[in-house]
Amino acid sequence: MSNNRSDEMWQNMKLLPFCILLYDANEDIFKVNSQALSLFDLKEQPHFKKADFSHITLTNHHSKKELLIEELFIDYFMANNQCQFVLSKQACKLVLNVKFAKLSNSNSIIIIDILNNNVDEQYDFDNIISKISTDLIDIQNDDVDKHINYALKAIGTVCQADRSYLFKFAEDGKTMNNTHEWVNNGIQAFKEDLQDLPKNTLPYFFSSMVRTHLFRVNNVATLPIQAISEKTIFQQQKIKSVLCIGLRYDKELVGFIGCDCVVKKRNWTDLDLIRLRLVGEMLANAFKSLNYKKELQKAQQQLIKANHKLNKQVNTDGLTNIANRRCFDQTLKCEIKRCARNKEPISLIMCDIDFFKRYNDNYGHQLGDEVLKRVAKALHDLCKREGDLAARFGGEEFTIVLPAIDTEHCQRFAALIQEKIAELAIEHNFSSASKYLTLSIGFYSFIPSQKTTPKEVITNADIALYNAKETGRNKIARFEKAN
Ligand code: GH3
Ligand code: MG
Ligand code: MG
Repeated sequence: MSNNRSDEMWQNMKLLPFCILLYDANEDIFKVNSQALSLFDLKEQPHFKKADFSHITLTNHHSKKELLIEELFIDYFMANNQCQFVLSKQACKLVLNVKFAKLSNSNSIIIIDILNNNVDEQYDFDNIISKISTDLIDIQNDDVDKHINYALKAIGTVCQADRSYLFKFAEDGKTMNNTHEWVNNGIQAFKEDLQDLPKNTLPYFFSSMVRTHLFRVNNVATLPIQAISEKTIFQQQKIKSVLCIGLRYDKELVGFIGCDCVVKKRNWTDLDLIRLRLVGEMLANAFKSLNYKKELQKAQQQLIKANHKLNKQVNTDGLTNIANRRCFDQTLKCEIKRCARNKEPISLIMCDIDFFKRYNDNYGHQLGDEVLKRVAKALHDLCKREGDLAARFGGEEFTIVLPAIDTEHCQRFAALIQEKIAELAIEHNFSSASKYLTLSIGFYSFIPSQKTTPKEVITNADIALYNAKETGRNKIARFEKAN
């Protein structure tokens, strides 16, 4: 066939409603019509070499054997003149009916019919959508980014876009941020440049967004003059077609998701729009539930904190900040039981400030309060082991619960208390016991039984305290059972 004839034939052939490739064995080149360009993601040029198809892998629909397109041209059709292949393209699998015919010694033609484009693509998309929606139903803060990125890749791929993205408006309502972006291979990402963008740089875009929650442009070059700002920005990013839909949260527009085409223009289909809207709604719902969850967590934490505070207040003495009577009663009861179970001793110390009425009368009630605080702190600081508890029993009386402490140890502990109080060196010129403030201490150490009641323990420690007072104050006395 002469070159002229072959050219003429190509001019007619390329208009057929199929994907067509013409192979010239002499030159080892292909001519490719526009449908085939689009199918194989090729950029238009007069002819192609085998290497230009190296990104394509076809799988035999029946045998599942993979082959490169150049094998298809050279060897495969020598034996078969029609076969079905599967082309994996982004998210979808296209089943291709491929026919082969030899036109002359040097020219062969391949005609490709896409059998199930929509059906398969829709099937894949349905799968993707069900995955996204399951992922988003119980979304946790930790994996939100992963799911958004997956959703963007899915929507970008099925809409045959080169880039897809999520923008969220800042709380000031004036700026927006590109929080997530997916880009196809070889496409420039812009996310990092698109932070804190003033919304008023896109007035035309936002007037459409606010009115219809949609911005759909097949050809950026044809944007009207009012959209000059948008056109400039889009062209800087080499965007040829844009499709965006608004994300609403309780009817308020909080951001948008969208797709861009950079390599070539796209006439967005209604299906593109429906799908983008679906993904957008799912994302908006996910954000809503995340927000509810956050609010709930915040409320729960506040409640726990308030509860904690309340608990502390209920168990703390308002003046001295150490445990109060209520806390003491509970602790004593628990520790008696625990020590009885473990067959361990327990000690209870009762202390009472000596001549405190005189202190108040002479130095004033306010100074008296300060003394109570200092004494309480000193007692509290002595309780270093877990389970030890110093509490204000009432007025100027304090008590200390010491689990697993026997008489001997308790005696030493009581001496330590007196030492610490002496170290405070609180002047008390009206005490008959010393120049400084002193305590009288009574204690009771014993091994409790399950029948032991807190009341009897307190009574016994109190009897010892009374003895300490009676023997001159600033004394330590222990309770001993009369035989
Ligand atoms: P004794 O050595 O026998 O214990 O004599 P005392 O004066 O310490 O004992 P008394 O029971 O006669 O007096 C206790 C005093 O403790 C009376 C009261 O004014 C004082 N007091 C009780 N609670 C408080 C308080 O919260 N703040 C102040 N500043 N004083 C208190
Ligand atoms: Mg007293
Ligand atoms: Mg007293």
